[in-house]
Amino acid sequence: MPRNRLPAVWTVLSLVILFCDAAAQAPAPSRGAMGPLPRVHFLATGGTISNRAGGRLTAEDLVKLIPPLETYAQPEFEQFSNVASSALTLDQYLKLARRINELFEQDKTLAGVVITSGTDTMEELAYFLHLTVRDFRPVVVVGAMRNASTIGYEGPANLLEGFRVAASRAAAGNGVMVVLNDEINSAREVTKTDALRLHTFQSRIYGVLGVVDADRVSFYRAPVKRHTAKSEFDVKKIETLPRVDVIMVYQDASGDLITAAAANGARGIVVAGAGAGATTSSQREAINAVAQKGVVVVMGTRTGSGRIAPGTDQAPSGGERRRNTVAAEDLAPVKARILLMLALAKTHDLAEIQRMFSEY
Ligand code: GLU
Repeated sequence: MPRNRLPAVWTVLSLVILFCDAAAQAPAPSRGAMGPLPRVHFLATGGTISNRAGGRLTAEDLVKLIPPLETYAQPEFEQFSNVASSALTLDQYLKLARRINELFEQDKTLAGVVITSGTDTMEELAYFLHLTVRDFRPVVVVGAMRNASTIGYEGPANLLEGFRVAASRAAAGNGVMVVLNDEINSAREVTKTDALRLHTFQSRIYGVLGVVDADRVSFYRAPVKRHTAKSEFDVKKIETLPRVDVIMVYQDASGDLITAAAANGARGIVVAGAGAGATTSSQREAINAVAQKGVVVVMGTRTGSGRIAPGTDQAPSGGERRRNTVAAEDLAPVKARILLMLALAKTHDLAEIQRMFSEY
């Protein structure tokens, strides 16, 4: 090549490299070149993401905090409530599930739904919706650990990512997802692992479903248990959810709390057992007594992960436990409670409830 043409070649090469680099960094819009942007319905329930000194942000305020949203989706917003997650009632859970089902039934072109919630009990709301929304389209639950009056408020970043997942075609069929800190977790497995730190939502041994990066939303695995479109739980037929309490096993714990829960109207009890479901002898006696009266007792673990297998307990009391209780499988006690409430709204048959715990 003649020497005097080298500078021109370098200029062209540098421009190509610059262009490629910019294209890789730029957030890619999720619409096709010609089509309209996906429509995403946003329901705000409150929580830290809506909190600021002097009053709460509304759904409309939150959408205004994320101008880049117009690159990814057409939002519609609705204020469902504006309270802390722990203040939501089970009747509001039912109402929210019915509302999302209604939105999907009435609007076949809606791409997905985003819900903001406080983070404290977010995993319970997300799992409830995972079992009761009857559509394959994505439902994404989003929150924040820092409120809008705090430096480092991450609400807008999380909400934008929630919209991007709800607008993404790859998210369909994954049920309800929790999106914070660029990570997508399944409602079934995600849990709040730290009271304060930002990176609190983890799926422990299972890991994330996917991630939200600047260029795109990527999935690496899909939930295989029954949920949403394949669920058998129909909230149209449930007026109120039965009382189910969670009781923990700890050293020398008395069975009195189990007896008291049943006496106060609990139709089900989830025991957060030690290790693979151990209880004290006083608790075991109370469990057997309430089980005789028709209260359904589910054995889980307080360890944070691991599976309680149905009918495999080799301990001397194993036979009794098999007859009188249902195994929670790998569901965390608070999620086992959500499933047990829905199960009890349909049946009191232990074998049938055990089937549900193995399938969902
Ligand atoms: N972290 C709280 C929650 O889970 C939010 C507190 C509030 O909204 O007042 O809802």
